[in-house]
Amino acid sequence: MLIDRYDIIVVGGGHAGCEAAAAAAKLGSKVLLITLNVGVLAKMSCNPAMGGVAKGQIVREIDALGGLSAIVTDHTMIQFRMLNRSKGPAMWSPRAQSDRIRFSMKWQELLMDIPNLHLWQDSVDALIYKNKGVIGVQAKLAGKIYSDAVIITSGTFLNGKIHIGSINFGGGRLGEENASGLTQDLRKRGILSQRLKTGTPVRVDKRSVDFSSMTPQPGDDPTGKFSFMDTPPLKEQMNCYLCYTNEKVHQILRQGFEQSPLFAGRIQGTGPRYCPSIEDKLDRFTERDRHQLFVEPDGRESHELYINGFSSSLPIEIQFRALKEIPGFEKARILQPGYAIEYDYFPPQQLNYSLESKIIQNLYFAGQVNGTTGYEEAAAQGLIAGINAHRNINNELPIVLKRSEAYIGVLVDDLVTKGTQEPYRMFTSRAEFRILLRQDNADQRLTTLGHEIGLAGHERYERLKVKTELILGIENILNTTSVEPGRINTYLENVNTSGIERKTKYANLILRPQVKLKQLIDFDSELRRAIVNLHSDPSLIKEAWESVEIQMKYSGYLEKEREIAEKINRLENISLPKEIDYMVFPSMSMEAREKLNRVKPDNIGQASRISGITPSDVSVLLVYLGR
Ligand SMILES: Cc1cc2nc3c(=O)[nH]c(=O)nc-3n(C[C@H](O)[C@H](O)[C@H](O)COP(=O)(O)OP(=O)(O)OC[C@H]3O[C@@H](n4cnc5c(N)ncnc54)[C@H](O)[C@@H]3O)c2cc1C
Repeated sequence: MLIDRYDIIVVGGGHAGCEAAAAAAKLGSKVLLITLNVGVLAKMSCNPAMGGVAKGQIVREIDALGGLSAIVTDHTMIQFRMLNRSKGPAMWSPRAQSDRIRFSMKWQELLMDIPNLHLWQDSVDALIYKNKGVIGVQAKLAGKIYSDAVIITSGTFLNGKIHIGSINFGGGRLGEENASGLTQDLRKRGILSQRLKTGTPVRVDKRSVDFSSMTPQPGDDPTGKFSFMDTPPLKEQMNCYLCYTNEKVHQILRQGFEQSPLFAGRIQGTGPRYCPSIEDKLDRFTERDRHQLFVEPDGRESHELYINGFSSSLPIEIQFRALKEIPGFEKARILQPGYAIEYDYFPPQQLNYSLESKIIQNLYFAGQVNGTTGYEEAAAQGLIAGINAHRNINNELPIVLKRSEAYIGVLVDDLVTKGTQEPYRMFTSRAEFRILLRQDNADQRLTTLGHEIGLAGHERYERLKVKTELILGIENILNTTSVEPGRINTYLENVNTSGIERKTKYANLILRPQVKLKQLIDFDSELRRAIVNLHSDPSLIKEAWESVEIQMKYSGYLEKEREIAEKINRLENISLPKEIDYMVFPSMSMEAREKLNRVKPDNIGQASRISGITPSDVSVLLVYLGR
């Protein structure tokens, strides 16, 4: 044995593995992160961007709990946008264009700074088992390494097979070897594996592109950021560009359909329905004569461009010819073809809420191996697995977030309860408590918990306390201060709402949809002075008044969601013993009994969310439990 014994071994240095290793090590475990290439940690395999609709909320939740993805993003982003500003605040979603190489380097720096976390470049081919549990890994170079727990975060690498037209070969990403051995080893131990597929577009040298025929997509001004901590603001933003395919492009792409691995049936795994390849889009939306593409820079110094929306596994020659028919790309020099990749995943209904395997003790799974797609989803699971592996080996109960507490709660609950047949990505529509689970209040929802378990540090917790006090202070000013008609009516008329006739509390004005607190603060110097005087940090004040405005404007909706959440949480508190054999309930359908036996739900709430479980099945369970 070359290497010491560790408390926790993390297999894989992608987004899930990095968060898992950092969380477990920061909590005090001695952690070894083994990955195929320590030079490309948390590599963005596809588009160089973090966040987006629902995903941005997840990144902020990771941050609120004490994870690192948001901090890495803030340090390395080249553009920031708050998406969906024109919709309600439940939909506001931060998104950053990242510098791909710097993102990896920042992760490497942060991980190497954690004293009890070691990195090791190697391939894990099998696990070492004792009785019903895992006790270490078998690595190609280092041999046997022992640990109390193992977290598998091997992404798209397990038996990864890359497809480009009629060519296919083994690989975890283009230019990187795949990993074999682990799936077979786990299957021998009774863990089920299946295949999924994902894809990525061509990359182009930006010096060969004519941007004058495209529409620039600038970042927000003023800019924003992800972390609730005092990370550096983004100084210089880079543009993305919008362009479109056309009939000629479609015609060329269709010529390649016969050699498409997708249509010829060479790809067996299911792909992400919501992130389809360009050939998929042509096939499904035949009536469309153009499709939107976003041209995204890969980094500040990089000359590489990522063509978002043009993912393809058609033959290289077809991809190249088609691209050159898009205005601006006539002289494009192409650096890398688009490709599809098929890989093994382990259906996540085989996991407990802690992300520990139900079959092998002390073995955790996180990220793409659980059937998800996306950096954010992977990072969130990594964080939860890292926390819970550490807590498990220290005899502490796992952390399980509720659906009403966090998108991360929705993600884990969906995975372990319903499983997934296609790459799972997060959407706001998956969350029933969207107005509670906003990006602005992730710290108020989760930082206290993060602090209690030891992951969110003192400084973070103190910032939350200051922000909470500021929120109360601003609410107090708005609820108690009245404004004269003469001072405010010009503003009200400017935003197309009627003027006031007598002194009116600011809180009443905020309820009007036309009135924006930021505009009120900018317009009314007395109000501005009262709020600004509350604290010396303008960024904290801004965060606080944004939260206050949302809470005031949407108080009715918030109250309703809280009431429903409380009702549902009562069902979550009614536990179901693991040893129940659901076959003994003849009044339930066979489908329900089989599904309940497969999932072995922790509680009535989880049972009710299994697809195919009806309200009458739930009643049977309640009667059985004497409720
Ligand atoms: C071609 C392609 C296209 C994609 N397209 C999209 C997209 O359009 N949208 C989207 O949201 N997501 C997309 N993704 C998915 C996105 O990259 C992943 O969701 C995300 O990176 C998953 O993170 P992860 O940590 O689970 O795994 P990964 O980022 O894949 O990292 C896995 C890590 O595990 C290591 N590893 C694997 N096996 C072993 C082993 N046996 N021993 C040691 N180390 C090992 C690898 O070296 C790697 O560092 C795409 C991925 C690929 C490859």
